[in-house]
Order: sequence, then structure tokens, then C-alpha cells
Amino acid sequence: MSILYRSTRGGQNGISASQAILQGLADDGGLFVPETFPKLAISMEQLSGMHYREIAYEVMRLFLTDFTEEELKACIAGAYDSKFDTEEIVPLVQADGAYYLELFHGATIAFKDMALSILPHLMTTSARKNNRHEEIVILTATSGDTGKAALAGFSDVPGTRIIVFYPKHGVSAVQEKQMVTQKGENTYVVGIEGNFDDAQTGVKKMFGDATLKADMEAKGFCFSSANSINIGRLVPQIVYYVYAYAKLLGEGHLHDGEPMNVVVPTGNFGNILAAYYAGKIGIPIGKLICASNENKVLFDFFMSGCYDRNREFVLTNSPSMDILISSNLERLIYHIAGDDSEKNAALMRQLAQTGRYEITEEMREQLSQFAAGYATEQETGEAIRRLYEKTGYVIDTHTGVAASVYQRYAAEAKDNTKTVIASTASPFKFSRSVMEAIRAEKCAEEDFALIDELSAVANVEVPAAIEEIRTAPIRHTTVCATEEMQAVVRRILGV
Ligand SMILES: *Cc1c(COP(=O)(O)O)cnc(C)c1O
Repeated sequence: MSILYRSTRGGQNGISASQAILQGLADDGGLFVPETFPKLAISMEQLSGMHYREIAYEVMRLFLTDFTEEELKACIAGAYDSKFDTEEIVPLVQADGAYYLELFHGATIAFKDMALSILPHLMTTSARKNNRHEEIVILTATSGDTGKAALAGFSDVPGTRIIVFYPKHGVSAVQEKQMVTQKGENTYVVGIEGNFDDAQTGVKKMFGDATLKADMEAKGFCFSSANSINIGRLVPQIVYYVYAYAKLLGEGHLHDGEPMNVVVPTGNFGNILAAYYAGKIGIPIGKLICASNENKVLFDFFMSGCYDRNREFVLTNSPSMDILISSNLERLIYHIAGDDSEKNAALMRQLAQTGRYEITEEMREQLSQFAAGYATEQETGEAIRRLYEKTGYVIDTHTGVAASVYQRYAAEAKDNTKTVIASTASPFKFSRSVMEAIRAEKCAEEDFALIDELSAVANVEVPAAIEEIRTAPIRHTTVCATEEMQAVVRRILGV
């Protein structure tokens, strides 16, 4: 069966997977969704004996039906290899009554690696399949994590170049060091004298600049984007939920058909949507528990049926969840409207005009599988400390939000269903906040001292991704004013 994609706003349909991956966002501003959902054709028992790469193939072949077996297997083999620091790819760790799915063993020790390590392969394969011969230029603005994961993913991938803009004075020392030491002859990292919004606006302007586009095409380049609305990032994320279920089944923690709850620390709604999609293809998902930090726009939405981004933006210790416009939620809205693009488009127009929308009672009834909670900074710290004191296991701040929300949910709902918590970053990426949570006080030491202490406390070796940047030479030193971004891109590409 071949699966085609359409826009959540109705402007495009009948799009192949490879075209959707190349295009990223639909022409009408909507997101690509599968027109129908495939079903897993293989038994859970068979899956339970498979390696991550084999499960990845069984899941992704259902969605990327215009890829040949050979193409897809090559993409998977190129992504989930020794870049990961464990042969298992995603270890599942049992602690304090839950199963932590460690999605942070890739090159940049955050869960973005799960998708960004394969996206470059999917993109170059898609270009080849569609007879596109331009060199793909990925332009990304980053507030820290996505930029590094995209750089690592596209580094030295033939047929691509990647240019990342970051706010020169707006990322952590570790995040900056991770980016400016990036290797790869096709990677470019540029600091801008401005904030993240300036970087984002500058990149969007370039995407919309017809003269630049024409000049690029004349030189054999085309722009693309690696951000999380691309279906090529969503599909690889479904895999690890299937893997988690198969693993729990294989180890006898679950019997076939028994439901599994999932808790996801959520920002842009991509990760939890992948869990929802895992349910759609046949994994017995019980509750999908959406965990927010103090930017609790999603919690309020699930409680009230009203999405309202008109509120203050809070800076927290789980920065990758500091988001008020949760782009991937649009896909869920479309599905709960009964795959109705008109209804969805009307709500999205309201969102653009007023910053809010309200769903109907009928749509709310479709959300019964979801539960939601949020954790304050203090509750997050307490969850990290409590888990550490009880079990010795150390989690990062994003995962801490999820652990806190889960604890309250399990107690209030009296729900004993086996539960997987998506563990989205290595604690070493947020050593200061994690050590402050464990010590329950501010830390005065510099970052690398805290990293060493965390290693001792957690009894975990410092990951290579962190060890490397201690001594790695700086390779990228370009800094420019916001207005100069396009000039820098032209200089890099020679257009
Ligand atoms: C991106 C990110 C999230 C949020 O994931 P979404 O798919 O945007 O909901 C959570 N934790 C970490 C560490 C992340 O990098």
C-alpha cells in the first residue's frame, strides 16, 4: 500500500513521502500528514527480538512507501551507527517504578539526534529520487540544541551544506562551544549580534527572498530546512515507541496487547505526536501524558480546550521546552477534527490573528487518550533530587519535568499502567541545573568542574560529546550583525 501526504490546511494532497521531506512545510503553510495510517504488519513477538535498526526499517517502510528497501536500509544504517555511544541506540532504564527511554545517546546527547541523524540521508535520497541535482543548503536559526544536532547530522553528508545562525550572547557556554568546534567541510556556524528571534526572522526572510532564490538556483543550490515540522523528522521518532513496547514485551514486563503509558516532556509537540502515531499504527498505547514546564500553554489547552499563546514567556531550566507556539499541535488538531483541513485551517487563521483558538466539544472528546500536567522549576528540581536519592539514577531537567508530572498523575489517577518516560537529554548537557537540583543550592564552580562532579555523583562517565569540547579547537569564528546575514550566506556560497 502506498501512503501519500496532504497538507493539514487542504492546499496540497497526493504528495509522496520523498516530496514531502524535500518540501518540509506545505505551500499553504500547513503541515504534511499521512492521508491514511498504515498498520504494522509484523507481530510484536517478532519485533521484540529485533535490533533498533531492524525495527526502524519495519516502522519507516510503512510511512515512506516510495523509498526502496535498499534506500531505506542505507539511510538507517548511515544514521544509527557508532555515532551513538551504545550499541542498543536507546537504552530503557527501570527506576522508581517507571521505564526511562534514554533518547540521548547520539552525537549531541539530546533526543533531537534521533531524527536529525537520519534526516540528511532521507533528504539526499529524496532529492535523488526526484531527480533534483541542486546542492541542498540547510539554513537554521537555533537557540542552542537544534543547531548542534543539525550540524552533526549534516556534517560531511555529500550534496549538502549547512549554515547555522545563533545569538552570539544568547546560548550557554557549553552550547556555544559545541557549535563553534563543529567539524565537517560543509558546516558553517555564524554568531549574530542579536537574539534568537532576530536569527529566526533573518532566516525566514532569506527563505522568502525571490532574488536570492534565483541567484542560488543559477549556481546549483536550493534551500531546505531541518526544523521539526518536517515529516522526515516525525517518522523516525515513531520508531522508539515501537522499540520500547517491543523491548518491554521481550523482557516480560508486559504481555502482548497490554497497554503502555507514555510521558513526554513537551515543547513543539513533535515527540509526543510521534507516540500518538505509534498508537495509530497498532502499538497499545494507554495514556499519552503531556508534561510542560512553566510555559504551560499545552496543559491549559488540554484542561480547557482553548489554546492561548497570549501570555508571558518564562525562561526556565528546561529551555528546549520554552515555547509558546507549539507547531506540531496543528497535526493533532487536524486529526481530532476528523482529518478536516477546513476546520483546522479556520482555527489556525484565528491563532494567527488573535493568538488563540477554542476547539469544539466534539473535538475535545477525541482527546480522551491524553492527560496533561506541568511542573514548576522547584518541582522539577525536587523530582531530580528525589529520584537520585532513592535510586542513584540522574536525569536531566527536561526529563525532570516529566518525572514530576508522572509522579502526580500516577498518584491522582491511581493508574498502575506500565509507563515509559521519554528521557530527552543527557544530564551532562545541563550539568549546572542538575547539580543545583541534587545539592539543593546554587553552584559557584565553573561548568567543567560541575561536569566532573556530576560524573562522580551519577557514577556515569562524561559522554564523549562533552569530553571532546573541553579541548577541541574552535573552527568557526564568524560573527555578524543581523542585517548582514544574507551577505554572509552569499559569501559562503559564492553567489
Ligand atoms: C526539543 C526538546 C524537547 C521538546 O520536544 P518537542 O518534540 O519539541 O515537544 C524536550 N526536551 C529536550 C531536551 C529537547 O531538546
